[in-house]
Amino acid sequence: MKDKYNLIWLRRDLRLSDNAAVHHALQSNRQLLFYFNFDTEILDQLENRADARVNFIHSELQKINHQLGKLGSSLVVKLGLARECMTQVLQEYPIAKVYANKDYELFAIDRDKSIENICKSQQVEFQLYKDQVIFEEQEITKKDGKAYTIYTPYMKKWRSEFDSTVHQPLEYKLSSSNTAQIEWKKMPSLEDIRFTNSSIKIPAFNLSSEMLNNYEARRNFPALKATSNLGVHLRFGTISIRKAVQEALKGDDQFLNELIWREFFIQILANFPKVETECFKSAYNNMEWINNEKDFEKWTNGKTGFPIVDAGMRELKATGNMHNRVRMIAASFLVKDLLIDWRWGEAYFANHLLDYDLAANNGNWQWVAGCGCDAAPYFRVFNPTEQQKKFDPDMEYIRKWVPEFGTEKYPKQMIDHKFARIRALETYKKALQSELI
Ligand SMILES: Cc1cc2nc3c(=O)[nH]c(=O)nc-3n(C[C@H](O)[C@H](O)[C@H](O)COP(=O)(O)OP(=O)(O)OC[C@H]3O[C@@H](n4cnc5c(N)ncnc54)[C@H](O)[C@@H]3O)c2cc1C
Repeated sequence: MKDKYNLIWLRRDLRLSDNAAVHHALQSNRQLLFYFNFDTEILDQLENRADARVNFIHSELQKINHQLGKLGSSLVVKLGLARECMTQVLQEYPIAKVYANKDYELFAIDRDKSIENICKSQQVEFQLYKDQVIFEEQEITKKDGKAYTIYTPYMKKWRSEFDSTVHQPLEYKLSSSNTAQIEWKKMPSLEDIRFTNSSIKIPAFNLSSEMLNNYEARRNFPALKATSNLGVHLRFGTISIRKAVQEALKGDDQFLNELIWREFFIQILANFPKVETECFKSAYNNMEWINNEKDFEKWTNGKTGFPIVDAGMRELKATGNMHNRVRMIAASFLVKDLLIDWRWGEAYFANHLLDYDLAANNGNWQWVAGCGCDAAPYFRVFNPTEQQKKFDPDMEYIRKWVPEFGTEKYPKQMIDHKFARIRALETYKKALQSELI
């Protein structure tokens, strides 16, 4: 079958090296043909035509296409619905087997099933591989085989199962003899896929020993820029999790713990897909949210009168990023102080975060709202003023994003935090009681 190709369908794994699908495809003697689909079902949902994430995907694919060009190959790119595009590719090229890396989101699972059916109907094999995580779905479970729903025991088991000699980056070499030798084609432009240039640039990741060794001590201070910026790169796979973990092992324990948080939420989404729309703890589905649209607007515009919240929301709009500590404070303010449904905040973050990832975003929003996978109940209500004193004591971060703070132009606090805290606790209590009746 030397005349047929193995098709590598790239999705959230935008790299040629250390890629599980590529590694497996190279075990056969067929040449590899690389393919990417700009899926209009996903792209049409994006509100912003200058979406920085689409820009990033586009520029990473251009790099891949140039790398393939050097090997005498080319990236096959299609714009349209996944099913229609795959059908075209199977018509245009002789394909024996499609290789792709597993995606644990419901939308992707359904899409992959329908693509598998198309392949089968054309006598083409279709196989998915684990690549996005070290341990997937059912690999880290409790003694009774059930999924963990609390992070700390999950993290301990994860660490005990991890083997640095096994979970290594994948080594192989692509060459002109194992890639499909086809005419090189230029990628379609951003305009061709109906997008435009974004002014937001994706920051490079930082895994320096300085960052890794000081991570725990510095990670909570938004003015310090002391975190890795890995989020967006793990989201689109411009670095593999195997490589990220290998680097994390050189730093303090806390950094690896954060990567384990990522896997914790990915396995929660895979094992409890209902969390995509519902509270993990179903009692909280009875919450009586106020959902005031004007309040929501003040939050999104960074005009709440609480400078740490406003700084975060403005940072998010301007850069597509928000520091983790500030994400927790801003999210808690929306859900607990304003009693706005966590799903509103989740959707807003999904639109704006460069590192938006369904599992992490959903898991963290539910964690902050107290309705998710957390050992503690709903009692934690972040005090934005105390948080600011602790984590931005010199107001360096606030001065950067809220320059009018301290002047007449800055809005008054939109709510009294003490009052809001008591109201939140009562509303949560009522929701839980109504489930017991
Ligand atoms: C309300 C809320 C929403 C969030 N939404 C997302 C999201 O959509 N996508 C996302 O990747 N992270 C999300 N996070 C988690 C966290 O804020 C980001 O991963 C982190 O800020 C990204 O910056 P970094 O890469 O410099 O992280 P670092 O601090 O350098 O951490 C390294 C990596 O560990 C992982 N990680 C760290 N913290 C968490 C966490 N709490 N949960 C899951 N993974 C984590 C990420 O992959 C991150 O890139 C959210 C947190 C909150 C509170």
